[in-house]
Amino acid sequence: MKQDYYEILGVTKSATTVEIKKAYRKMAIKYHPDKNPGDKEAEEKFKQAAEAYEILSDENKKARYDQFGHAAFEGGAGGGFHGAGGMNMDDIFSQFGDIFGSAFGGGFGGGFGGGSRGPRRTKGSNLRIRVKLTLEDIAKGVEKKVKVKRKVQAEGVRYSTCSTCNGTGQVMKVTNTILGRMQTASACPTCHGSGQTLNNRPNGADADGLIMKEEMVSIKIPAGVTEGIQLKVGGKGNEAPGDHSIPGDLLVVIEEVAHETLKREGNNLHYDLYVSFSEAALGASKEIETVTGKVKIPVKQGTQSGKILRLRGKGLPSIEGYGTGDLLVHVNVWTPQHLNKEQKAFFEKMSEDTNFVPKPSKSEKSFFEKVKDMFS
Ligand SMILES: [Zn+2]
Repeated sequence: MKQDYYEILGVTKSATTVEIKKAYRKMAIKYHPDKNPGDKEAEEKFKQAAEAYEILSDENKKARYDQFGHAAFEGGAGGGFHGAGGMNMDDIFSQFGDIFGSAFGGGFGGGFGGGSRGPRRTKGSNLRIRVKLTLEDIAKGVEKKVKVKRKVQAEGVRYSTCSTCNGTGQVMKVTNTILGRMQTASACPTCHGSGQTLNNRPNGADADGLIMKEEMVSIKIPAGVTEGIQLKVGGKGNEAPGDHSIPGDLLVVIEEVAHETLKREGNNLHYDLYVSFSEAALGASKEIETVTGKVKIPVKQGTQSGKILRLRGKGLPSIEGYGTGDLLVHVNVWTPQHLNKEQKAFFEKMSEDTNFVPKPSKSEKSFFEKVKDMFS
């Protein structure tokens, strides 16, 4: 015995078309095969509900059903419908446009979840190079010209609209979901989302129409950069295929070349100055190296080993532009290693001289105090 269509949908005989539609919607969602995978009973109920709706939503069929019951559609009396289970899933899904609105209907043009973002602007990959800089380069800032091997679009290359996606960069896929047929967009497999394909491939170009090219790139490096810092030169990375693509960037990693005599510590520089015994005792003018050239500095008479002379502003500029560091000159008195007879006699004589006896004054700062001063 076939179940009554009104019972199937859970409505009364006096239900309005709106109520019938609403009831069917509920059933369709509840028993949708996607929600009940492998459940034969749910599938049967889903089909029954669809059949009931098919009849009750049609004014003529409903009138015949009301008069004759199921008999109206059996044995060819009613025609057009073949009893329970006679509706296939495609028929059922095609109803959904009516039930859930056009967005969920079958066929293309629905747009649910699809959106229309248009083709992606493909960006080429970044390139990374290392640039070696001396402290002198870092002090002043420098413009470096480097050879870069990058992929560029070959001369004469032509791209045309992708025929798979018609230039949209996307393909639509229809899937059956809980709400019926839905369209989802995914990147076009032919053009990978760019919306264009290679039309003319010049000799030597790869499948994307790109060739390797060596190019001189000028890089402006600001003063005060540090080891490991990364600068970006926009648009000097690899190019990407297509008329609307944008090239990647060139990333420049700074490498600091060790200086022969200067040591860097932040923005300050350190220099070890060696003076002779006599120079320390008598005083002298000494030439020292800085990042901006050689300068002469006075070593006062009686200078102690370990003294630090601070040359303000002779260090490196800060990259943010907050002033410049100092050059700290560490004075080392060189003690003679081998003495001849004459010299030996001289020092022996002097060892009894009170002037040669160490007597650090209160004003003479210890090594540790000097270090403390340096970092404060
Ligand atoms: Zn495409």
